[in-house]
Amino acid sequence: MHSTLKERDKNVNWHPYTQMKGASDIIPIIRGEGTYLYDDLGNRYIDAVSSWWVTLHGHAHPYIAARVSKQLNTLEQVIFAGFTHEPAIQLAENLLKLLPNNQQKVFYTDNGSTAVEVALKMCIQYHANKGQKKSKILAFRNAYHGDTFGAMSVSARGVWTEPFGHLLFDVIFIDVPTNKNIEFLCQEIDKHATEVACFIYEPLVQGAAGMLMHKPEHLSTLMNYCRSKGILMIQDEIFVGFGRTGKLFAADYLSESPDIMCFSKGLTGGTMPLGITTCSNTIYEAFYSDEKQRALFHGHSFTASPLACTAALASMELLLNKETLARITNITRKHSIFLTKIKNEPKIKHVRQTGTIMAIELKQREETSYFSNINEIVYPYFLQRGILIRPLGNIIYLVPPYCISDADLDYIYEVITDALSL
Ligand SMILES: *Cc1c(COP(=O)(O)O)cnc(C)c1O
Repeated sequence: MHSTLKERDKNVNWHPYTQMKGASDIIPIIRGEGTYLYDDLGNRYIDAVSSWWVTLHGHAHPYIAARVSKQLNTLEQVIFAGFTHEPAIQLAENLLKLLPNNQQKVFYTDNGSTAVEVALKMCIQYHANKGQKKSKILAFRNAYHGDTFGAMSVSARGVWTEPFGHLLFDVIFIDVPTNKNIEFLCQEIDKHATEVACFIYEPLVQGAAGMLMHKPEHLSTLMNYCRSKGILMIQDEIFVGFGRTGKLFAADYLSESPDIMCFSKGLTGGTMPLGITTCSNTIYEAFYSDEKQRALFHGHSFTASPLACTAALASMELLLNKETLARITNITRKHSIFLTKIKNEPKIKHVRQTGTIMAIELKQREETSYFSNINEIVYPYFLQRGILIRPLGNIIYLVPPYCISDADLDYIYEVITDALSL
């Protein structure tokens, strides 16, 4: 007897964010095409969360596949210390053109967490290289910046980080800015200003926290204040970058520019792992020295993978296409119409949207928690109806690939509406 993929998987694989005991619902996917994923039993799922927020143009996109395939036959990998290659140069040139003017240099890694690690190391060493004693870090409450130790340290503390709590470095957490608290936040920052090395934040949308949103004008004010206090700013656009917010980058909504920016997820259109940390010349120059020890001693085996850089070049080409930009606008418009229609439903506590990202927070009796059972009911409910939606606790959200059709969006809205009357 042949064992099924599911059985073989259970024997050997350990899945992320998964209590493996009782994890019988893991679905083998054998093929992807556009918005759809197909399992080994022939079921089709609309990927309404872009496979953990990475897929921009749909699965197995033929253009990206062709470009990567060509690159694979040309140069698959080369050490990036002492060597370089065209995809890494072209990608850096293309990306920097789209970012705030002060972003001048690109440092490559291979995922979001490491892009954050590099950003933190840049800030801490920036001050060390300048002989300044500034090592405290400022971050938002409910932040999520990744799962490596530095990234965990600047993220919200919770059940995920509990076993490691004593090993994480101290961070000053502040609330996201609102009309009411902005003055108070500035006062709080002022108390620590002389010791703070940097402020790291997810601009506009705190994804993992449950798609929590704040206003660009308030963030701009806060950034402006940090600037005036000499606090370096790390803008983590790993989730919101590449069109999710309705504009290419969250930076396009803000009047102040960060010193450092982090990218991953949608960078390659979600096809290959790649991370990028960009920075201003001010940062770069603090490392540029006759003294070897002032260099940034950081690197990964797969730094600037030519394959991943090529995927990113192809994806960004597709992204800047007029049709893709029109799809982004269209998704934004459709989300907004839908939310207006359902926002007063009795089961709904709050609805919110930033561009193509929308979230519906359901009311629940107990405290909001990741382990709330709404998730356990809602997740299979959608799967049975051919939709991959993975609620964050009691928060149902959509982060669709831009290629999603109006018909599929309407179908998702319809199923959500039905779920609300359960
Ligand atoms: C996903 C995410 C990260 C971490 O990226 P990984 O590639 O999963 O390590 C960091 N910051 C934000 C805002 C994210 O959403």
